[in-house]
Amino acid sequence: MNKQSRKTLIVGNWKEHENVSQASTLVARLHKLIAGHRDIEIVLAPNMLALQPVSLQIDRRRFRLASQNANAKDEGALTGEVSFAMLRGIVHYGIVGHSERRIYFNESLEDVRDKVAASIRNGIMPILCVGENSEDRSNGETRQVLHDQVISALSNLTAEEVTHVVIAYEPVWAISTFGGELAKPDDVQDCMKFIRNQVKELYGERAAEDIRILYGGSVDDHLAGGYLALDDCDGVLVGSASLNYHKFSGIVEAAYRNNRK
Ligand code: PEP
Repeated sequence: MNKQSRKTLIVGNWKEHENVSQASTLVARLHKLIAGHRDIEIVLAPNMLALQPVSLQIDRRRFRLASQNANAKDEGALTGEVSFAMLRGIVHYGIVGHSERRIYFNESLEDVRDKVAASIRNGIMPILCVGENSEDRSNGETRQVLHDQVISALSNLTAEEVTHVVIAYEPVWAISTFGGELAKPDDVQDCMKFIRNQVKELYGERAAEDIRILYGGSVDDHLAGGYLALDDCDGVLVGSASLNYHKFSGIVEAAYRNNRK
C-alpha cells in the first residue's frame, strides 16, 4: 500500500455550532493561521445554513467544504430536507452516517447506503463514518460491526466509485461527546487495516490502495501526530477541536510535519 500517493485530509466538523456570523469569524481566523499545503486538503463542515456564505468567503486554494448530512433523494416533497443535488458546486465532500446521525436520527444501514450512493451520483465525495459503540467493543464485536457498516454502505457502488469514497473510522466511545476515551493508536491501526482489507476483498487492490481512511475521536493538536503516523491513516476527522482555530491549525501543522518525516 502506498500511503504517500493518498492526499492527507483534515476535516473539521462544526456540528450544530457557529451561526452564520460566527462561522464567518472562524473562517477569517483560520485564513490567518493556516497556510496552504500542496499535500494536505483542509475541509470545513459548517451547518447547512452557513455553507453558502462560507463558500463565498473561503480561499478555495486552501479550503474545501463538506456538508454534515444531506437527503438521498435528489428532490421531492420532503419538507425541511436538502439534497446532495442541491449541494453540487458548493461542497466537495459530504459527511455520511456520522454516529450522531445513526444514534439520534435513527439512520439505518440502508439510509447510509442510499446517502453514499446519492453523494457519488452527484459528484460529491462521501466521508462515510463507521465505528463500533462501547457495547460492541466489550462484546468483542468491533470487526463484525465495521464489516457490516462498510460493506452495506458501499454495496451500490462500482470499484471505480469506491475510490472516491473516504472512510472515517470513528469508534463511538472515543468521540468527545460520547465519552471521549482515547483510542490507542495500535488499536486504531488494526481497525483501519481491517477496513482496507474489507475494501480489497470486495473491490480489489486498486480500490484498497486509493481509498482514504481517516481517524476521528477526540483528536486535538497534541494527539493528531500519533494517529497521522499510522500506516493506514490518511487524515483525521475532527469535532470539538475544529471549533478552536489554534487547535485546528495545530492539527494541520502536525499533518504537515508528519508528511515530511
Ligand atoms: C466527531 O464527532 O466526528 C468527532 C470526531 O468529534 P470529537 O473530535 O469532538 O471527538
